[in-house]
Amino acid sequence: MNPATNKNKIEFKDNVLNYDNQLFYLFESFSGLKIDHLVGYDAIVLEANDPDFTKIILKKFRSHSNPEFYLKPIFLVNYKSINDPVVEALHDGIMITFDQIPEKVNDIQQLFLRSTHLDNSPSTTFEVALVKKILNYMYTREIRSLKPYPDFTSAIGFSYPLLSINFEPFEESKVLEILDWAQKENLIWPDFIDRVYLCNSCGTGHLSYREICPSCDSANMRSEDLIHHFPCGNIGPISDFKNKVDSVLNCPKCNKALRHIGVDYDKPSIINHCLTCNEAFQDYIVKARCFQCGSDSEVQYLVSKNINLYKLTKKGRNAATSGIVTSEYGEEENIFGSVDSKTFAIMMHYEQERTKHKPGSKTSIAVLYMENIFDLLRKIGKSKEKAFIVELVQLIRENITPADFLNISNPSLVSICINDASVEESDIMMRKVLDKIEEMVFNNFNKFQLQMTFKAEALNTDSSFDKQLQEITKTLTELNE
Ligand SMILES: [Zn+2]
Ligand SMILES: [Zn+2]
Ligand SMILES: [Zn+2]
Repeated sequence: MNPATNKNKIEFKDNVLNYDNQLFYLFESFSGLKIDHLVGYDAIVLEANDPDFTKIILKKFRSHSNPEFYLKPIFLVNYKSINDPVVEALHDGIMITFDQIPEKVNDIQQLFLRSTHLDNSPSTTFEVALVKKILNYMYTREIRSLKPYPDFTSAIGFSYPLLSINFEPFEESKVLEILDWAQKENLIWPDFIDRVYLCNSCGTGHLSYREICPSCDSANMRSEDLIHHFPCGNIGPISDFKNKVDSVLNCPKCNKALRHIGVDYDKPSIINHCLTCNEAFQDYIVKARCFQCGSDSEVQYLVSKNINLYKLTKKGRNAATSGIVTSEYGEEENIFGSVDSKTFAIMMHYEQERTKHKPGSKTSIAVLYMENIFDLLRKIGKSKEKAFIVELVQLIRENITPADFLNISNPSLVSICINDASVEESDIMMRKVLDKIEEMVFNNFNKFQLQMTFKAEALNTDSSFDKQLQEITKTLTELNE
């Protein structure tokens, strides 16, 4: 062999290679699964002939919380593509032989240079930390969008490789929560791709859909055509028209043979017959049973989520280098039309002072207790809970005066300050509120019967408001135990 080419031949020695001032590490399948000792290398060359091993190692690097690992340039060698979107999304290039290493030096330097632009201020929340990490990766690789891929190992049927690797597959619905958060923060912008339906208690999409009997919930049912015989007007299931001998249909009411569909009879619809409880019915219920948590709910209560392709907004593109500035803490928890507990207590204090110094003025404090609201919220599901509470507050507001104010500290307890009303008047008002809520819930949530009680009292002027509220709450909740 020519000594000159031999000299130029690129070879790793004990898995290490220094080329052009870049330190490479060759990660082979017998190198083990540990990566912690690789922090000091400028790039990793990963022996990628085993797809599972390749995926594990890539995930280890990219899910690491330290940028020294998750931003590390990683090249695959001996890679046989199996079109795994996770693997495809997490490497920085493919090499056929080590002789291509010189071509990668510039890429490595560019990646390093871009990583020096990144903002390093500490994150305030879990969401900020995770999204910042994804944005950092995207910035260094000049990636502009997060694309979902169909993935049967994911609990929601789709995965976003860069984000999903930070969660266990069964936690995939948390990926959607993070994306929702990032969208609310205007960091990303959605383009609709598809829609999925998820369990309303655990958030996974591995569901078994069944048509079931409305009276006993059994899926063991048989459906058959309904026959309408024109001459005598008889309507009945087709089995009543059949006989054991031939295929002629005979009307059980008038005994005539049926001749031509559309002429002397037709099939107006289908009738279902439950083989468990014997019930006959036209409309079945469709339920979805969750393979993950076992919850079985009607499909109307499933959580529907859009699967979007997300593009970085201008704010999102800048966030990698300038940090994520989030909207004010706690803002989203506010329920429109209500005040938080602290504000409520302050307002009640002023109200006490006002009534104390204005003889004849009367203010009532009423507490509404919804004993079984958590059963309802479980049916509704976490993601629709807030919308429901907002609707509930609006309904209460419509039945009190604009000057009254209320607080909903825990979904089962609503405290209302009713201004310029006697206890008797407040009682009437509250009864009306209860009726309206009961009706709204019954009509909108499958005849759910919300159990409610309330207590209205004149506002004490001689003891602390907190104490009075506590006592009313205690009476209400203990009464119902
Ligand atoms: Zn007939
Ligand atoms: Zn049945
Ligand atoms: Zn579930």
